[in-house]
Amino acid sequence: MTKELLVTKQNGFMNDCDTETATKPLLVMKFGGTSVGGPIPIARTTSIIERYTREGNSLVVVASAIKGVTDSLVGIGKCIQDGKRLELELGLEDIFYRHLDVANNLNLSHPLKTSLNTRIEELFFELYQYASELRGLTSEKSDRILSYGERLSIRIVQAKLLSRGLVAETVDATEIIETDDNFGQASPDIEKTARYARDLLLPMVTDGVIPIVTGFIGSTRYRKTTTLGRGGSDYTASILGKVLDADEVWIWTDVDGVYSADPRKEPNAQFIPELSQVRAHQMAMAGARVLYPKTIEPLMGTGIDLWVKNTFNPDAAGTRVYYKTDSK
Ligand code: ASP
Ligand code: MG
Repeated sequence: MTKELLVTKQNGFMNDCDTETATKPLLVMKFGGTSVGGPIPIARTTSIIERYTREGNSLVVVASAIKGVTDSLVGIGKCIQDGKRLELELGLEDIFYRHLDVANNLNLSHPLKTSLNTRIEELFFELYQYASELRGLTSEKSDRILSYGERLSIRIVQAKLLSRGLVAETVDATEIIETDDNFGQASPDIEKTARYARDLLLPMVTDGVIPIVTGFIGSTRYRKTTTLGRGGSDYTASILGKVLDADEVWIWTDVDGVYSADPRKEPNAQFIPELSQVRAHQMAMAGARVLYPKTIEPLMGTGIDLWVKNTFNPDAAGTRVYYKTDSK
């Protein structure tokens, strides 16, 4: 697979009349929980996707669950563990209405809104049936429950993209990221993931469709849902960047990039415009909040740059994480 894809359509947009042949850079863009945290952030996120698509890039989008939803799903797991049926029902209802509330405030056309609401109801019903069996919590059951945050959020992002005239398809990462069975902290099988991800995503991209992939989750060879660890959507993006041989991976978050300390707590924190993969990996492993610790690993030694950018200040330069050879 070459780095640049041969794209025979104007990528990502409906009503293409003329076909053009062009090579386009492939960017994997991941949007975190705050970037999909409500109607306004979702409007920003989708305008960023639209902008970079219009500027002539092919995009693969990875989305996290809506901010706070994974924590609430952890709470659902706790109710199952403790056999608390009433709290479980209330918790599930709250998660359901949080999604419906976002969906109903996206300014969608009636048909789009109706089909999104139906999809949310279906997914929610599945979650409800699974969670209300109670009977104890295993790490396997917990992962399946946690996966619904991303399963729900990608549908919402897709609907908003469709309403802007873009062509987007949802992709459940359980179809493309194969992991071991270390539930809660699963590791990907890169070779198999490369095969599945290329087979499913590259034809979409070539056809001018923007795949919207669930962050955070994968599945075992026996198709049991796994999670990559809390905050793991960044890792999903870098895994996909690696296996698709993307040009760049962009992590969209709610700060301007990487700082020497948490800028919200430490007013003297210094912005870092560029850092090597080794340094970024060290910082993430040492607890820098901005990147999931394993994010850099799949990209180590590749020429694939990773950028950390701010959804709420998209014109800020962001931080570039790059591969530096010893000789440089
Ligand atoms: N939704 C997951 C979490 O909250 C993954 C992520 O946000 O990256 O941990
Ligand atoms: Mg994060």
